[in-house]
Amino acid sequence: ALTIGIVGLPNVGKSTLFNALTKNDVLAANYPFATIEPNVGVVNLPDPRLDQLAELFHSERVVPATVSFVDIAGIVKGASEGEGLGNQFLANIREADAIAQVVRGFTDDDVVHVAGAVDPRGDLDTINTELILADLQTLEKAQPRIEKEVRGKKTDPSVLAAVNEAIAALSEGEVLSHVPGLDLAALREFGLLTAKPVIYVFNVDESVLTDASRKAALAELVAPATAVFLDAKIESELVDLPADEALELLQSTGQDESGLDQLARVGFDTLGLQTYLTAGPKESRAWTIHKGAKAPQAAGVIHTDFEKGFIKAEVISFDDLVSLGSVAEARAHGRARLEGKDYVMADGDVVEFRFNV
Ligand code: GDP
Repeated sequence: ALTIGIVGLPNVGKSTLFNALTKNDVLAANYPFATIEPNVGVVNLPDPRLDQLAELFHSERVVPATVSFVDIAGIVKGASEGEGLGNQFLANIREADAIAQVVRGFTDDDVVHVAGAVDPRGDLDTINTELILADLQTLEKAQPRIEKEVRGKKTDPSVLAAVNEAIAALSEGEVLSHVPGLDLAALREFGLLTAKPVIYVFNVDESVLTDASRKAALAELVAPATAVFLDAKIESELVDLPADEALELLQSTGQDESGLDQLARVGFDTLGLQTYLTAGPKESRAWTIHKGAKAPQAAGVIHTDFEKGFIKAEVISFDDLVSLGSVAEARAHGRARLEGKDYVMADGDVVEFRFNV
């Protein structure tokens, strides 16, 4: 499964957030035979449509999609120079498919800030600089080899062009994911850190959570990347509360959705994922696919035999199914479509596959 690596300077609230993520761990509940890794937190992707389907189909259970977060121990200044555990940190980040960077926005005199003061912009710069330096190192080391391979016609010249363009951008202090027109696909083999999609998680006080203009100012620091605002301490309390009390606590801080739920949604989207739905008396379930996946690939997520023997997908949009009330009614009204192998799955498709065994 795709994972999001949680990074950030020391004392910004990573462990607090990660504890909330693991306390909320759904893996044990839904997948009793899965191995539970201590540094992985799995959270449900919130999807109210599943409850509606479960009601309609009298499903015994609901199985939402999930998002996995990996705790990557604190990055420090000098990590790219291999000081201390630096190299191990970077290797762990390299394995993540996206990065959630936690940035401290809360003030608390009892919690020391590594740089002496709460300074979101400075913290962002510190981490970005380390990631940029690490990528520069990777590419500068690879460049002579790639040049040789291009001369020997073993590697396409487009790779060398992308390497040189990336080195130039990194030297200017730019992160690769924001360089317009850069051929990131040509750079895939290098596992570059700044090419990964990033979500910025601002760990802030209630006073910021309820202040739209302060949030906008922080969001601007990281635009066009997505910013999520939460209070890690409150998040760790929310997961221990029954649903109604949790909602009450959230609303008292001016929110209608928990930070973890927001993080799950934004993370799922940032990973380039979407879901389709199945429904029946046994379960109503969301299945994870890549955006743009076609019907046979989607079927393959349920079972490889479904992909191999794919014939058709019977697709009803969630809205049609709910407003018409049943599959039979949807069919009677011509709202159940039979789609073939080139059909590109849409969000909210409720699907039943037809296949040969
Ligand atoms: P890490 O080093 O990034 O993992 O940071 P921790 O999660 O260990 O947090 C460092 C300290 O800050 C701990 O004492 C936390 O209780 C505290 N802390 C974390 N999040 C918040 C927050 O949102 N507000 C306040 N006031 N303190 C927090």
